[in-house]
Amino acid sequence: MEILRGIAVSSGVTIGRVLVMAEDSRRVRRRVVRAEHVPAELERFEQARTRAIAELGAFAKQAERELGVEAAKIFQFHAGMLGDEHMVGPVKALIESERVSAEWAVHRVFGDWADRFRAMPDSAFTTKVNDIDDLARRLVDQLQGERRQSVSSARHDTVIVARDLTPSQAAAFDRSRIIGFATELGGRTSHTAILARALDLPAVVGCSDLTLRAAEGAMVIVDGDRGQVIVEPTEEQLLAYRGEIEARRSRRVRLSESADKPAITSDGAEVSVVANIEFPEESQAVLEFGGEGVGLYRTEFLWLTRSSEPSEEDHYESYAKCLRGLKGLPLTIRTVDLGSDKYTQERAETPERNPALGMRSIRMGLSDLGMFRTQLRAILRASALTARESLGPVRVMFPLVTNPSEFLHGRYLIKDVMEDLAEEGVPFDPNIRVGMMVEVPSAALMARSFAKEVDFFSIGTNDLVQYTLAVDRTNERVAHLYNPAHPAVLRLIREVVKAARAKKIPVSCCGESASDPEYAVLLLGLGVRTLSVTASAIPDLKRVVRGVSIGECERVARKVYTLDSDQQVSAFLRDRIRKLMPDGPDGRSGGPLE
Ligand code: PEP
Ligand code: MG
Repeated sequence: MEILRGIAVSSGVTIGRVLVMAEDSRRVRRRVVRAEHVPAELERFEQARTRAIAELGAFAKQAERELGVEAAKIFQFHAGMLGDEHMVGPVKALIESERVSAEWAVHRVFGDWADRFRAMPDSAFTTKVNDIDDLARRLVDQLQGERRQSVSSARHDTVIVARDLTPSQAAAFDRSRIIGFATELGGRTSHTAILARALDLPAVVGCSDLTLRAAEGAMVIVDGDRGQVIVEPTEEQLLAYRGEIEARRSRRVRLSESADKPAITSDGAEVSVVANIEFPEESQAVLEFGGEGVGLYRTEFLWLTRSSEPSEEDHYESYAKCLRGLKGLPLTIRTVDLGSDKYTQERAETPERNPALGMRSIRMGLSDLGMFRTQLRAILRASALTARESLGPVRVMFPLVTNPSEFLHGRYLIKDVMEDLAEEGVPFDPNIRVGMMVEVPSAALMARSFAKEVDFFSIGTNDLVQYTLAVDRTNERVAHLYNPAHPAVLRLIREVVKAARAKKIPVSCCGESASDPEYAVLLLGLGVRTLSVTASAIPDLKRVVRGVSIGECERVARKVYTLDSDQQVSAFLRDRIRKLMPDGPDGRSGGPLE
């Protein structure tokens, strides 16, 4: 038995068997075959190609079932590439001309393709390099019959163990077989972690040496609440954790029964609890968990689950699906927030030295107006559904705004797109609300100026903490320094709330910290009345709101304001929540595992 400590990123406990995803493709050595074996080598390649195409087809179907047509397209595109003679013809030619093994021929030919694409000045080619690498790896896997990297071989109750996982890898998991994951790298607010919560998969990240300690096939417990991974647990640990899983299951049933109960504090303040989503299919979960709408739809997943840029129709279909799924509840669509950790640098047109401070979010939108206008057109077209089908309102917001000019430019583009649509006779909501994320200190400090222009604010603590404290949100080595309870962050939030109140515009918080009971109490005390969190966190959060009074929350905020360090604030909040909610924020005070 061994306990490995990491960072708890997605709540829940799971017990399963380890499947290790190897970090990079295995090294392929050049091997020459005898002349009489060349036809067999060609046949081996053909069979591997057929199997890989079938595997991709199955992935596409599964992705479509679980995550929708958008997610399926990436696999369909890969299958198409493997069916293309231009791609695979040179592999067969090399096997014949140099009498080399099929593995080596794939490695060489696909490697050459990737190099040539990488060197092209046009981004349409450079963005394909990852796809080519991925396909080469898949073919070599098939040829070697080795599936270490392929989660398609996962059995039921599989726990994925990897050095790191990208959001698109996590999005492709078959949830009927993969029940959790743990990685060596990553932070609590990385997008893979956010996705784990959206997929409701218990997860722990930042577990050093994990891939060395957790052997393929080993029994493992992933404790996504305490941030630990137990390899080859003892009988007692298994018993205790099985009890915990059962208790959680019945608690969930109980909570879902009261999901529709409103979040009103004991002294009568109404709090709106809405959801953060990444895929339109999640709108169903939003309703099931009692969410009152979507406060943040991260549309960048439209790009992350495909190899090419989404078309206007791709955008429109997703937004319409989401809005219809919400059955009359509001939908806040955030425009493209690519860059930083979400858009890997290998995939980027021009790799950046410091992507978190580089061409990301609204900067990217404003530098590629064609792409941006396509998205805005689709959002505006979807906004017409509100009146036409009696659905909830659509709102739009811009990410990572640092200067008023960026917001004004974005809003001007919306007006301009509206004029185009009006000329074409295409309907839209002319009164669509346009807001911004407040997730950099400059925006928070200038909230009063911004408040004159925007229809609403949404505070994104994930980035606000990163940029205020200079701590990379995805880096496990500095995770101990990443604390939303830092007094500097709290002062910025207070500024934003004050500015919003003065102008009577709505302000919400959509960072991950909004679902932390202690922090939610503080946010209420600071004046925030809308909290936007992962759908599955909604019932617990509503319960917390019902269990406190605004008077108490304000007292907490006032006290916190006198404290000088994040440790003091965190300790005070922990102590306070214990007093305010003696049963524990989630209604279960302790247990055999505490
Ligand atoms: C945030 O930064 O707090 C936020 C909600 O946006 P994202 O996590 O997508 O960067
Ligand atoms: Mg952000």
